[in-house]
Amino acid sequence: MTDVAQRLAELEDADLRRELRTVGGSQGRRVLLDGREVLLLCSNNYLGLANHPAVTQAAAAAARRWGTGAGASRLISGTMIPHEELEAQLADFHGFDRALLFGSGYLANLGTISALAERGRRVYSDELNHASIVDGCRLARAETVIYRHADVEHLGRLLAQSSKPGDLIVTDGVFSMDGDVAPLREIVALAQEFGARLLVDEAHATGTVGPGGRGTVAAAGLEDEVDVIVGTLGKALGSYGAYVCSHADVAELLINVSRRFIYSTALTPPQVAAAAAALAILQECPDRTTRLHRNAAHLRGALADAGLDVSREGAHIVPVMAGESGDAVALSEQALAHAVYAQAIRPPTVPAGTARLRLTVMSTHRPSELTAAALAVGAAAAELGIGAGSDSARAPGPRHHRSPTASEPRANAEMERASRTQAPDLGRAA
Ligand code: PMP
Repeated sequence: MTDVAQRLAELEDADLRRELRTVGGSQGRRVLLDGREVLLLCSNNYLGLANHPAVTQAAAAAARRWGTGAGASRLISGTMIPHEELEAQLADFHGFDRALLFGSGYLANLGTISALAERGRRVYSDELNHASIVDGCRLARAETVIYRHADVEHLGRLLAQSSKPGDLIVTDGVFSMDGDVAPLREIVALAQEFGARLLVDEAHATGTVGPGGRGTVAAAGLEDEVDVIVGTLGKALGSYGAYVCSHADVAELLINVSRRFIYSTALTPPQVAAAAAALAILQECPDRTTRLHRNAAHLRGALADAGLDVSREGAHIVPVMAGESGDAVALSEQALAHAVYAQAIRPPTVPAGTARLRLTVMSTHRPSELTAAALAVGAAAAELGIGAGSDSARAPGPRHHRSPTASEPRANAEMERASRTQAPDLGRAA
């Protein structure tokens, strides 16, 4: 057996092997999966804008007018008019000096964290932050200090022990796998006390949370207190790419030192035009966000009524805990048998022992579809013996640890070792 085959076999044995599936159609409420129509309950096309006619027409028109490619990075072949217009639109939307486009949210986090957290500084990161933040911390020359999930006391202790002014705190706004919101007011207070910068990743909050869908920072009224927000165009804004909102100085620094900005080909005109059209729709019709909230409450209520341990309140990302990876996969397959496509999320995306179905609501779902889906997931869980009251089905507590798992043992172990050298009571690497 080759080493590659061996690694694949190990992943298979640990129920961690991943497979791509082909869906027919756009990312609408219903898709064809293996020729069968199923309800799509795992797409981040939260507002249904990826397949909205005005958005697809804007992309097509931009391809005709500006072409399909940007030619090179903007420092090489220039900023195109659509880039400039979308950046102005995004900066205005979020109430920041500047917005700078990046190739994706992944690249934006990598590029921004590594640019702001230089050697000699520290970056304080929530243990459940998204993988792109984790990788941004790994890439930065600064030391990474992990604090326990949403635990502001822990963060405060760590800052008091080791921080210097100019260090960076990084958090998801809405956590991507749990759907909870970061305690931003308390984090801002700590950032101010210790002179740290704060970066909030609004990937799952743009278009979905806060006044007019302006995110968790706007929801907490902290636009003037947060230094940097990262947003993505690939989720609620129905396109691809991302942006960083900041003070003009920070944007200038990113243009000058962020390798992810400097060395990546700029976003294509159709991607940019699609996002601009989606943002215009969001601003003109905030009722899409209202419908998303209504649908999230509906699904949560229906899941709880179906006997699952799901909070009736919360965001549009709804975890249904399974526990072990094999159980999450079985639950996903069983849900699919009931025509519900919901993805099993396993380590290293989530901590060991907290594998789950991650259900994501869209504003375009019909309440009756969500009721039927909740019944189907409830029935699937009951058939598998995963249900309310069983340990495996408990919703996540306030604190999780991410343990090294088959596909990332070395990197996680290294992170953990690194953080342990900085302070004795640090959380584990994300
Ligand atoms: N941040 C968070 C919190 C995410 O969930 C994701 C992607 N799921 C990203 C960043 C990366 O964004 P993109 O998909 O645009 O690369």
